[in-house]
Amino acid sequence: MQFQLVKGMKDILPEEQPYWELIRHNVDLMGANYGFARLDTPVLEFTNLFKRTVGEATDIVSKEMYSFVTAGGDKLSLRPENTAGVARSYIEHGMVNQPQPVKVYYLAPQFRHDNPQAGRYRQFWQFGFEAIGDKDPVIDAQLIIMSHNFLTDLGLEVEVQINSVGDSNCRPNYLKTLRHYYQDYKKDLCSDCQERLNKNTLRLLDCKNKRCQELAEQSPQFVDHLCEECKNHLMSVLEYLEEVDIKYNLNSRIVRGLDYYTKTAWEIVEAGAEGKASALGGGGRFDDLVELLGGRPTPAVGFAMGIERIVALMQEKQIKIDKEKYCDLYIAQLGVEARKKSLRLFEDLRRDGFSLAENISKKGLKDQLEVASKKHAKYTLILGQKEIADGTVLIRDMENGIQETVDFNKIKAEVRKRLSSQVMRSLKIRTKPPVV
Ligand code: AMP
Repeated sequence: MQFQLVKGMKDILPEEQPYWELIRHNVDLMGANYGFARLDTPVLEFTNLFKRTVGEATDIVSKEMYSFVTAGGDKLSLRPENTAGVARSYIEHGMVNQPQPVKVYYLAPQFRHDNPQAGRYRQFWQFGFEAIGDKDPVIDAQLIIMSHNFLTDLGLEVEVQINSVGDSNCRPNYLKTLRHYYQDYKKDLCSDCQERLNKNTLRLLDCKNKRCQELAEQSPQFVDHLCEECKNHLMSVLEYLEEVDIKYNLNSRIVRGLDYYTKTAWEIVEAGAEGKASALGGGGRFDDLVELLGGRPTPAVGFAMGIERIVALMQEKQIKIDKEKYCDLYIAQLGVEARKKSLRLFEDLRRDGFSLAENISKKGLKDQLEVASKKHAKYTLILGQKEIADGTVLIRDMENGIQETVDFNKIKAEVRKRLSSQVMRSLKIRTKPPVV
């Protein structure tokens, strides 16, 4: 019997890792630049957390959760999204007492038992940024700018689709208007939408079925039914976006799949692919979520992006990234004794913070020097039989091939001296071409 990947799962192979590494690196950088701290929540949460927040009538909760009862009788689920966990954590750890907004980010796998297809997995990775405890539209705008610029910085052309899904003040009336509109077309709707009509009416607007889409296009738009407060909020967000030249499309079909959104809702899609491609990411306000979980009324806004989809689009667009690994020093060895001594030398230099590479199992010097040049090593330290006997090391300048013999005990000082006059390659893997 041959084992295979579980349906909907994906291996992220070593050759794909440079893309992932670049994304992880940029996510951390974005956290640092905009003042968000990392928050890791567990993969497992109580099932009720998602029922309460994402909503029982949503596809995610009603059809796609990996839920089970533990031996101890707890009803748990693999998280289908991360915002509910973040809000739970915010309340549980009394973050309400910290200066607001509390700004956190995560990068973590999510699980949805959906039908797998291109760009849709059952385990997929998201990173997300959440600002909890501030109702100012400038925060919505900043998160939209972040989610947009993250992708353009990677070389992707994207656009923002934006909408408002109102609040508890104006939404009930709009939903009534929408249901009224759809009543006349009930028989034209797909079976899913017929079911959703009374339970999850907003989702009719983002159904992928062709006839449902035609009907959605003619439907009354939320922007025309917003209360004063929601309308002003949306207008302010749009003004801020214009201020930084972020192009957006007002799109009444952006309603997001989760119940907890209020006011601003947006998605980021590949430029020119609206309606065709799945979104790379999306976000929105969730002013009622913390209260829904038993906390004080706390406005919040955030977004999540799918890493598999970003990587797939970068590959499709043939965006080149530097996959090579760089090092300052390469350690080459010839012979049994030299191999032993180089094991120790490697550990010694590594602990001192040098960036190193080796191929300890290789026997020929030529092979080893080839790897050293591939990794753009500045110097190769060569230990052969003669060096072992003399207590020395041969240091080879990889740029001009000049070799010099150095006392083994002075090697650290020597390489430190030589490297200190150059740009130290402290990061072993570069995500951009090295600045030398
Ligand atoms: P959502 O939490 O549904 O708003 O999704 C936010 C982003 O996560 C989407 O725009 C996708 O990039 C990604 N995503 C959502 N579901 C999946 C999935 N099943 N497989 C891969 N990526 C997904």
